[in-house]
Amino acid sequence: MAEPRLPIPVDPAAIEVLLPTTNHFAVFLLLLSLVLFSATTVILAAPRIVPRLSALFTQLRHTRVHQAPLGGPFTAVTTGRPSLATFTSTSHHSAIFTNRPGVDMAKYANPPQPPPLFTGTKESIVADAKALCERTRALLDAQVASIKPDEDPSSATFESVLLPQTEDENESSLSSRILGFYQYVSGDSALRDASTEAEKIMDEFAIECSMREDVFRLVDAVYKNSGLADSLAKDKDRVIDATLAKAAGLADVESARLLERERKSYIRNGLGLPEGPQRDRFKEIKKRLSQIQIAFQKNLNEENNGIWFTPEELDGVPQDVLDTLEKGTGENEGKLRLTFKYPDLFPTLKFAKNPETRRRVFVENENKCNQNVPLFKEAILLRDEAARLLGYPDHASFRIEDKMAKTPKTVMDFLNDLKSRLAAGGVKEIQHLLELKKKDHEERKLPFDGNYYLWDHRFYDRMMIEHEYSIDENAIAEYFPLKSTVAGMLRIFEELFGLVFVELTPEDRARISPTGKAEDISWHEDVIIFSVWDDATEGDGFVGYLYLDLHPRPGKYGHAANFSLQPGFLKKDGTRRYPATALVCNFSKPTEKKPSLLKHDEVVTLFHELGHGIHDLAGRTRYARYHGTSTVRDFVEAPSQMLENWCWTPSQLKSLSSHYETGQPIPDDLIEKLIATKHVNDALFNLRQLHFGLFDMAVHTPKTHEELEKLDVSKLYNDLRVEISQIKGPEAQGEPSTWGNGQATFGHLIGGYDAGYYGYLSSQVYSTDMFYTVFKSNPMDSVQGRRYRHTVLEKGGSQDEMLTLEQFLGRKPSTEAFYKELGLA
Ligand SMILES: [Zn+2]
Repeated sequence: MAEPRLPIPVDPAAIEVLLPTTNHFAVFLLLLSLVLFSATTVILAAPRIVPRLSALFTQLRHTRVHQAPLGGPFTAVTTGRPSLATFTSTSHHSAIFTNRPGVDMAKYANPPQPPPLFTGTKESIVADAKALCERTRALLDAQVASIKPDEDPSSATFESVLLPQTEDENESSLSSRILGFYQYVSGDSALRDASTEAEKIMDEFAIECSMREDVFRLVDAVYKNSGLADSLAKDKDRVIDATLAKAAGLADVESARLLERERKSYIRNGLGLPEGPQRDRFKEIKKRLSQIQIAFQKNLNEENNGIWFTPEELDGVPQDVLDTLEKGTGENEGKLRLTFKYPDLFPTLKFAKNPETRRRVFVENENKCNQNVPLFKEAILLRDEAARLLGYPDHASFRIEDKMAKTPKTVMDFLNDLKSRLAAGGVKEIQHLLELKKKDHEERKLPFDGNYYLWDHRFYDRMMIEHEYSIDENAIAEYFPLKSTVAGMLRIFEELFGLVFVELTPEDRARISPTGKAEDISWHEDVIIFSVWDDATEGDGFVGYLYLDLHPRPGKYGHAANFSLQPGFLKKDGTRRYPATALVCNFSKPTEKKPSLLKHDEVVTLFHELGHGIHDLAGRTRYARYHGTSTVRDFVEAPSQMLENWCWTPSQLKSLSSHYETGQPIPDDLIEKLIATKHVNDALFNLRQLHFGLFDMAVHTPKTHEELEKLDVSKLYNDLRVEISQIKGPEAQGEPSTWGNGQATFGHLIGGYDAGYYGYLSSQVYSTDMFYTVFKSNPMDSVQGRRYRHTVLEKGGSQDEMLTLEQFLGRKPSTEAFYKELGLA
């Protein structure tokens, strides 16, 4: 998601894109890289800023946003505002993008590949999923029956084993993702259910495949027959580059990477362990971990605790928030029930004047899901045991070896360096906020003990921005009507990357639809579709399809996300299959009086998500599994994070803006005010991120298993928080440091970010480095834009991401720009 910030200091927020469902995600984790059918491309969002002032807040008043599977609603821009039928029914008829004069558009009229169909029925969706699995099973069975490396070692080759498997995977991915997509967008609940069912079928089948010893033996034989095994045995850290691939007798880097990763995924699934007690134990651990992940998330989803407050205790909390709270009867007569859902929690921590109220809410929120405490402990113990069974020193080493960082040491060096650099800034920010608190307490005649507490932060951070940066988010939004802003963004991408976006009219749709029916090529009448092309300088070739589904409706996915619908790849005959990618967002609908207007954080969100969409469209890989955004997780956010910088650049903001009444660009003083808030209390924000990152590393890198058994996880969590953030907790009031169980209140470390939370910070290093090094002086440099497209975006996950980054930067990445941006250089 957009501006990468976490809510401070409640809990890690949001994920953006995503994950099929919690259960599927848990399953996904088991699969590691062997995902035969991943129904949706998994892109995890950088956690987002709590929009300053009223932006998010206004949205939350209108609807009670459901908590995201693994985090908060910060990605959600859902509003419950009613829309007018006249706007909905005509939304795709009014062009979002007037095509440019002087360009012969006729050459872009006939895409060489028809768009996918969205004509699934509840029967066909499930049946198709089963058929895909059966086809793959038949292929694998046939391979096992006919290829006998024990008898004839040379029979197991890349061509005989891996190539047919990838061709099957490529082909399957054209329908599997769409089968899983209906659950997020279909207006028909039967279709949504069928889609969830289809995804479950495909996930379970993928697990079955990932555990097939007979198939592993074939893949392992191919690996040993290739030169790759010998080269990597000599130097296991060697990056797979063109020289190595060639020496191994493989067609290209991507094929070599595929072979190496595919083989390793079986080993990481325990198939490298000898049959018997060890392997059985490993399987048992994995099964239990999967159960824990599901239970942990279910507990979070179903958590429904709350506190009864009197209206006096909630003084300061905006009336429209209070209006949504449950009213008490009987012994709670006259009281209001505050839950720990974000629409209740955040406004209360930001606005409740009574420090005792904030304290209670804060502390009880940290204790809202204590049934997860033993599950968390069990999970880290099982992970540690599993990693040691596989021969790793700890779980972090297991998780990080395939990431950009490669080793826990790299991660720890980075996090510790950042920590020491941020420390002084954090103290300074606390001092300023503490002065504000002192003054406020004096004015309101409240006792003041000289401490700045965790439950003070949102309150005084909000007050500081209101007092010291007078900024009206709604006035800014008037300059960003949705349609003209989208058009402006697409123009930026056209200029930078040499693309052409052609919006499909109803006539176009009917003409290119494989069924001849316009409605069959989208899932809802509101969806805007573009055919995307290379411009003349890039050769006028076809690029793919882009879908924009921008407004909320019942049953639709509630956040902002990019879904890869069909990946691109090289077909058997050597021609290219082109991708289809969708943005699913929840911007407010236009009303009779006003078009949909975007707050600045929504502008950033949209640009960020479009960034994922462009990444997906630009992909030019051989295999579907490495297409577009299918990169390692500590890199996937970097391209979109980099693009966010455009939304903080005055010239770009100006060109994106157009007042909804006057058409005027946003004035300079408003831009200045807006940009001034970018880094307010940034050290504290990043220290909060560091707390999550360092805690995550600490529980996943115990020296011994016994050490982990003895660990008091809650104490560690709270001690680290005080040490890193330097903000005081209940300990300063004499409570033991086991006062809360924050590790049990957010899903990230159980649901996929284990030994990976650092990625939110480290991908910022890469994105800031790329921006400062290449684009800062001229964000519209089209030569560099094209170089970026072809060097970074196009590669997807087809080669080592560090190699990609180095090729683009012309050197190893550096933290310098990142620290400069944070004012720490
Ligand atoms: Zn993202």
